[in-house]
Amino acid sequence: MKREHVKNLPKIELHCHLDGSIRPETLREIADAQGIALPNDHAQLKELLIAPKDCQNLNDYLERFDLVLTCLQTEAALTAAAIDVISQAAEENIQYIEVRFAPSQHTEKGLSLPKVITAVLAGLEQGQQQFGVKSNALLCGMRHEELKEIEKIVQLAEVYKTSGVVGFDLAGNEIDFPPYTFEETLDLVNQLSIPLTLHAGECGCGKNVADAIHLGAKRIGHGIALKDTPEYFSLLQKENILIEMCPTSNFQTKTVTRLADYPFQTFLEAGINICINTDNRTVSDTTLTDEFMKLHEWYGITYADMEQLNHNAVNGAFISESEKQLLHDQLTKSY
Ligand SMILES: [Zn+2]
Repeated sequence: MKREHVKNLPKIELHCHLDGSIRPETLREIADAQGIALPNDHAQLKELLIAPKDCQNLNDYLERFDLVLTCLQTEAALTAAAIDVISQAAEENIQYIEVRFAPSQHTEKGLSLPKVITAVLAGLEQGQQQFGVKSNALLCGMRHEELKEIEKIVQLAEVYKTSGVVGFDLAGNEIDFPPYTFEETLDLVNQLSIPLTLHAGECGCGKNVADAIHLGAKRIGHGIALKDTPEYFSLLQKENILIEMCPTSNFQTKTVTRLADYPFQTFLEAGINICINTDNRTVSDTTLTDEFMKLHEWYGITYADMEQLNHNAVNGAFISESEKQLLHDQLTKSY
């Protein structure tokens, strides 16, 4: 596969975090507008934003978000961040993207949760008008937060259901807060019929993935730890679960350390649906084009494989059947 062609082919992305995906240049503008001082040296700024090679684990990786979050505490900043992510999606011909964020991370300077959400939705909308990329938002609850705080986010996912919020997710510290911690919260998600994707098996154990599915998840973020528990493979097949794989991020967080341990082919051979994502464009210093090129280098995937991975993403997207059909047609026509 040729990079330029991979970049130009239509693609779908379902797992992209807003705060981890802002261009350093845009973050500088956002910071300047608020009088927040960032290192003048561009290389130094990038170093603060990109996860280091010697990241020890997921929690170490998550610390990279501190500086960005300091800058994302106003409506203008959140709108600008969302526009920036959509412009990056447009650059590599992403036809549809689901952008996720945790509203509670943006209230440090007094923004209300609804204001956080409407500011991001406004940016996604402007991005769509400016760059022609269709997008929707997923709201994340942070695992370390109190359950009643997470429940507020679920309620807001319901409130903004018809304005661009299409699902709910739990992100953050998986080791200390496994899926069943959130049983009641996720019951509410299911009662409200809010589509659910959960980070699970990003670290910890494969059982977290099975538990997430039992709790109602239709998609799994990462799912890597599942590789050691093949007894659950049939559950994923039966429930038609989609795993949102994020190759670069999975190595950075030390979920896997050797290519031989990365379960891309294991999952494919087991007939499990997977799709490919960036997770965090800036923190992981990647693009969706980079992710597909890596799979080509590592496993020799072809354009036909890439097309299938994108069709899988469409099938798992939290959109209507008619919207899915349009995306499927677009992929079929272009590949
Ligand atoms: Zn993620």
